[in-house]
Amino acid sequence: MANLVAIVGRPNVGKSTLFNRLTNSRHAIVSDEAGTTRDRQYGKCEWCGREFSVVDTGGWVVNSDDIFEEEIRKQVIIATEEADVVLFLVDVNNGVTDLDADVAEILRRSKLPVILVANKTDNNEQQYYAAEFYSLGLGEPICISAATGSGTGDLLDIVVKKL
Ligand code: GDP
Ligand code: MG
Repeated sequence: MANLVAIVGRPNVGKSTLFNRLTNSRHAIVSDEAGTTRDRQYGKCEWCGREFSVVDTGGWVVNSDDIFEEEIRKQVIIATEEADVVLFLVDVNNGVTDLDADVAEILRRSKLPVILVANKTDNNEQQYYAAEFYSLGLGEPICISAATGSGTGDLLDIVVKKL
């Protein structure tokens, strides 16, 4: 698929919420329970006259912690094989987790354009927490709130430049 933007990240960071916002759909299931989105969801997004596809890579289906993390890695690798640009979501309120660091490592090795996105930045104070994510080695974290839409326009400006 040409011009494909993949949304990756560990469970519950808001991937499906962002996917739904970018594609104007309620297609992907958003849930407080980690592991709810069963399949990869594809949708379309248009920004500044550019149309591109978006994939929500949520397909984790198992509960055992080990298999769970392995499944996340697998999904990230699949995403890097098909995507042109990767949106790597982290939760600004959680700090850097081990799984974030693992995903970052896979993404750095892929050599793809990666945009690090600090989601759940619902208010201005939380922007200061985002600085911690520089340690992932993927550049400046872009602060957004997928829930309110704040910052998503700036994010899309960056996305279309990288496509
Ligand atoms: P996914 O597992 O990464 O697909 O995450 P979901 O999109 O299912 O969201 C997980 C939870 O985080 C849900 O309760 C969402 O409502 C919530 N959430 C998503 N984005 C935001 C945000 O920008 N701010 C806040 N406060 N909550 C969010
Ligand atoms: Mg999801």
